[in-house]
Amino acid sequence: MSMEDMKSVLVNFNMQTGLSSKWDSIRRNLSAMGGMFADEAKHAEMVEQDDVLVYEFYDSGRPERPGEVAFGTSITYPGKVGDEYFMTKGHFHTILETAEVYYCLRGHGYMLMENPEGDWEAQELKPGLAVYVPERYAHRSINVSDSEPLITFYAFRGDAGHDYGTIETKGFRKLIVEREGKPEIIDNPKWAGEME
Ligand code: MN
Repeated sequence: MSMEDMKSVLVNFNMQTGLSSKWDSIRRNLSAMGGMFADEAKHAEMVEQDDVLVYEFYDSGRPERPGEVAFGTSITYPGKVGDEYFMTKGHFHTILETAEVYYCLRGHGYMLMENPEGDWEAQELKPGLAVYVPERYAHRSINVSDSEPLITFYAFRGDAGHDYGTIETKGFRKLIVEREGKPEIIDNPKWAGEME
């Protein structure tokens, strides 16, 4: 069998950076995170000063079929907007009844999750810990370290799809902020609730 005929995939992810030299990452700078952080004035000020990279991740490009598995790494950099830690936008899956697994390779953070019924959960991420995100739960990675990237490897059903719009519009019910040097889960003062 020639290399061109191969259907299997071999890809590298660096254990220190989370990055692959074989694929191009999708990058989200602060300016791409408008409205996601509670302190919008602080966010605008930071974008003006230095539009830093907040997180990046990979799209494995698998066909969107139920038998496929999409996978890659996600890297969230250390930083805060005011007292709110850097995080990913977070999303529901378009097919709500699809779960996902994240395995933490490096750093310290949380996976924040909530479902449309109003249940929420937060799991701490440290190297060696895997979190299973159940079906119906939106999920967001949050980096609570002040020095290290939060690196996870994820895998989910190939046709699950991403719904970013619901979170962009409504936010999460909870935020993770720094209080006296430690992460604390608080109610999101701006949570939009039922939009109907
Ligand atoms: Mn997902």
